[in-house]
Amino acid sequence: AGRVPAAPTLDERALARSLSGVHLIDGALVPALSGRTFPVVNPATGEEVATAAEGDAADVDRAVAAAAVAQKAWAKVPARKRGELVGACARALLDHVEELGRLIALETGKALRTESRVEAQVLADIFAFYGGLGSELKGETVPFHPDVLLLTIREPLGVVGAIIPWNVPMLLMALKVAPALVAGNAVVVKSAEEAPLAVLRVCEILNRLLPPGLVNILSGFGPECGAPLVEHPKVRKVTFTGSVEVGRVVGQAAARKIIPVTLELGGKSPMIVFDDADLERTVAGAITSMRFTRQGQSCTAASRIYVHERIFDAFAAALAAKVDAMVMGDPLDERTDIGTIISRAQFEKVKAFIDEGLATPGATARACSALPTDPALAKGLFIRPHIFFGLPRTSRLVREEIFGPVTVLFPFRDWEAVLEEANDSDYGLAASVWTNNLKIGLRMAHALEAGLVQINQNLVVQANLSYGGIKSSGLGKEASLEAMLEHFMHKKTIMVNMA
Ligand code: NAD
Repeated sequence: AGRVPAAPTLDERALARSLSGVHLIDGALVPALSGRTFPVVNPATGEEVATAAEGDAADVDRAVAAAAVAQKAWAKVPARKRGELVGACARALLDHVEELGRLIALETGKALRTESRVEAQVLADIFAFYGGLGSELKGETVPFHPDVLLLTIREPLGVVGAIIPWNVPMLLMALKVAPALVAGNAVVVKSAEEAPLAVLRVCEILNRLLPPGLVNILSGFGPECGAPLVEHPKVRKVTFTGSVEVGRVVGQAAARKIIPVTLELGGKSPMIVFDDADLERTVAGAITSMRFTRQGQSCTAASRIYVHERIFDAFAAALAAKVDAMVMGDPLDERTDIGTIISRAQFEKVKAFIDEGLATPGATARACSALPTDPALAKGLFIRPHIFFGLPRTSRLVREEIFGPVTVLFPFRDWEAVLEEANDSDYGLAASVWTNNLKIGLRMAHALEAGLVQINQNLVVQANLSYGGIKSSGLGKEASLEAMLEHFMHKKTIMVNMA
C-alpha cells in the first residue's frame, strides 16, 4: 500500500507499474501468498507493462475470510447509508475516468476514444444508479387473516464471488459489485488474467471510501484461482461473466454447493435488416452492434447479419466502405477507431476462424480497414475486420462465437424464413431488427429467441434495465433494481400470529 498514487494520474505506464504484483485484500495491496506473479502485456506493442499477483486457493481463503468479517458489520449499516456510500464511490470513480480509460486501453488494446474512456464513464454511472437504490430493498405484506400478519423481508446473501472476463472488465465488475454492496453483501472479485490492472485500480479507489474487506480483488488463472473461489464454503453466491464452456463448469460447482449462480455467457447475435430500413443508419448500427471498434470482442456482437435480398448488395457495399474508413492503430491515440485483439491466444483463434472461412468453397470475404504501419506497433495484435459472404449455414463461422472482428452476411427473402434461421442457434443473448414497419419489427421482437431485442438501434447496456441471455447464453439477470433484489438478496418469509 502507499505505492499507488492517491490522485488520478495520466501516466498509465507508471500507474500500471505501481499496481504490479498485488491483490487487494482486506483494504491492503498484498502479494500472492505463494509470491508468484505473471506478466501483463500491452497487446498493441507486446511490451510487458506490469506483473499481476498469481492467486491460488490460499489467497482465496484469505480474501473470503476478510470479506466474511466485513460483511457482518456492513449488513448492519442502514441500507440507505450503504447506498450513499456506493454513490460516493461513483463520484470518486468519475474523477478517475481519464486515468481508468488510459489504463484499460494500455492493458486490453481497446481504443481510448471509442471504447476505453466510454467504459470508465459507464462504470461510474452503474455505481451512481445503484447508489440511489438503498431505500428500495423492500419486501411485501400478504393478506391472509385479521389475526395473522404475513410478510417478506429481503436479506443479503453474505460473501459474493464475482468472476469477470477481459472485454469490458470494469463495466462487468460494476454490474456485480455495486448491487451486491447496496444489498449488504461483501465481494471477492477474480479478475481476468488478461486484464487485471484497471479493475484493481477501481477496487483501490472504492477501498478509500468503503470499510476494508468489503471489496477484495484477486488476480490469477481460472482453475487455480477462480475455481477455489466458486468452491469456497463461505461464498454464498457466484456471479460469473465469460464463456459458455467455463460457465458450465462454474454452474456445476455452484449446483454441488447448492448456492445461487448468475451466468452471463456468450452469444451469436443475429441482426435482421428489412428492405425499408434507413440504409445509412442501419449500416452505422451494424458497425456499433458488431463492435468493430472493440475488434468484435463483444458478447452481443451482431456476428450474423441477415439482409433483405433487395438491398443486400447496397448494404454490403456501404458497410464495407464505412469499415474501410475506420482507423486501426495505437489504442491511446485519439485518432484511433479500432484497437487490438486482447491476447496472442485470442489472435490465433480468430485467425484460424478467418483462414477456415477463406478456405471454404463458395465463400468470399471482404477484409476492411488497414493494418497500422507504425513500426512501434509491429508486434501489435491487429486483425482487419472481415465480412464473409456465401458461407454454408453449417460453417463454424456461422454457428460458433468467434469473439473477433468477423461477421457473416446472408440475403433473405421472407420474414418467416429469416426468423427461423436467426433462432437456429444454441445462443440467445441479443438480436436486432431494422425496419420502418413496426408491425413486423414487433412481431420479430416477440418471436426472436434472445434476452434482448432492439429495433432500429443498438444501445449499450443500461444500468436501470435488466439484461441477460436465454438458452446457452446465460441464467439470471444483471443491471436494474430487479437484479439486485432477485440475485443479490434472498427473501425471508415471516408469519406472525397477533391473536
Ligand atoms: P472465459 O470464460 O475464458 O473466462 C472468464 C473468467 O473465468 C476469467 O476470469 C477466467 O479466469 C475465469 N475462469 C476460467 N476457468 C475457470 C474455472 N474453471 N473456474 C472459475 N473461473 C474460471 O471468458 P473470456 O475469454 O475471459 O471472455 C470472453 C467470453 O465472455 C465470451 O464468450 C463472451 O461472450 C463472454 N461475455 C459475456 C457477456 C455477457 O454479459 N453475457 C459479457 C462479456 C463477455
